[in-house]
Amino acid sequence: MTVKTRFAPSPTGYLHVGGARTALYSWLYAKHNNGEFVLRIEDTDLERNSQEAVDAIMEGMEWLGLEWNEGPYFQTKRFDRYNEMVDKLLAEDKAYKCYASKELLDEVRAEQEANKEMARYDANHPKIKAANDAAKDGDPCVIRFRNPKEGSVVFDDQIRGRIEISNTQMDDLIIRRTDGSPTYNFCVVVDDWDMGITHVIRGEDHINNTPRQINIYEALGAPVPTFAHCAMILGDDGAKLSKRHGAVSVMQYRDMGYLPEALNNYLVRLGWSHGDQEIFSREEMIEFFSLNAISKSASAFNTDKLLWLNNHYIKTSAPEYVAEHLQWHLDQQGINKDNGPAITDVIKLVGERCNTLVELAEQVRYFYEDFSEFEAGAAKKHLRGVAKEPLEAALAKVEAMTEWTTENLHQMIADVCAELEIGMGKIGMPLRVAVTGGGQSPSVDAVMQLVGKDRCVARIKMALDFIAEREANA
Ligand code: GLU
Repeated sequence: MTVKTRFAPSPTGYLHVGGARTALYSWLYAKHNNGEFVLRIEDTDLERNSQEAVDAIMEGMEWLGLEWNEGPYFQTKRFDRYNEMVDKLLAEDKAYKCYASKELLDEVRAEQEANKEMARYDANHPKIKAANDAAKDGDPCVIRFRNPKEGSVVFDDQIRGRIEISNTQMDDLIIRRTDGSPTYNFCVVVDDWDMGITHVIRGEDHINNTPRQINIYEALGAPVPTFAHCAMILGDDGAKLSKRHGAVSVMQYRDMGYLPEALNNYLVRLGWSHGDQEIFSREEMIEFFSLNAISKSASAFNTDKLLWLNNHYIKTSAPEYVAEHLQWHLDQQGINKDNGPAITDVIKLVGERCNTLVELAEQVRYFYEDFSEFEAGAAKKHLRGVAKEPLEAALAKVEAMTEWTTENLHQMIADVCAELEIGMGKIGMPLRVAVTGGGQSPSVDAVMQLVGKDRCVARIKMALDFIAEREANA
């Protein structure tokens, strides 16, 4: 049997990180078993669904690298098929027409509540029975599924264990509305059957639908898939993760400067474990993934850990790869990487200091763009009268340098220290502020090497002008 899983989002907005985790688990399970992964868009709620939302979901999936083998299927394109199956159940008397009006159902429900009975649809209730008996063919009606009255539905949830629900807890579900449209629980079953889905991995919010769906599979004579329901993701306050906790859309994480590897690695560990391993390459995730190592309890989102993982992937991924993802942020920040050193060299130098690509883009700016001002705090502290002589000495040596290498720049700084009998900090910091504009950067010799000679000369002169002006004003 080929394992086949699916991700079946309703396109009401963006791809939520909770949905992305479910998609990742489904994708991993398929990959682990050399199976297939289907994308199905559950777009039957015409008022809440939109094409933009479909595009946003696919963009998120593509960004995460969760490619699908089949689909996207759209439920709105399959109404004929659902109706065919509703008609089949009708013909077999496994479904029936119900003519009870909404008002009548409300009345019966109120009665049941007043009598402290479970509020539910009851085909044998005298009032409902009377309404159905009195109806004529052609009167508006819904189609209800004839749920078994006895026994119970039992299934082995791969995460939660054995679940048993008595049929007396379930009423006769509407499978086709008065307007002729099939309902959610019915479409899902027909789809999962037609698409050959063997494993349904989805959020715990659907667990109450599962026994109802199992009865429908059985009525249709369809094989019942295996189910796994994932616990929810919580925010830091213990409530279900939502917008008010911060970013919940996958593409917002792109915008905030995360690499897809970091988000995938973070999401896979959010509710699944393999010993105490934290870092998983895509291959390792696929190799080690299993449903029974998914946690039953809800997991809390932890941004610090995600940042830590992102730093790890910025540091350890090929600079060419980081550069591809950085490009979007460079564009956002209006930085033109053609105006300076190879971006991969800059990433090698600066990358490990950054937790996000937004930070990385900010930190590469001075390699590509001149600035007209120094950072106020850093300049105040380091571009003072005492820095004049060391900077002048450095400038002369820099201008005279014929071979522009990190080693020579390193030696240049050492020579300035020796000649002026000063410590490293007395020249290192003023040079750093001069060349980068600020007080923080990797090793200044390596930075200068990439910034290039002309820019270094101009910037040291600018720093000397700054000091001169400052002294004049003192
Ligand atoms: N369309 C449903 C949702 O977005 C998922 C249904 C399912 O996975 O069975 O919540």
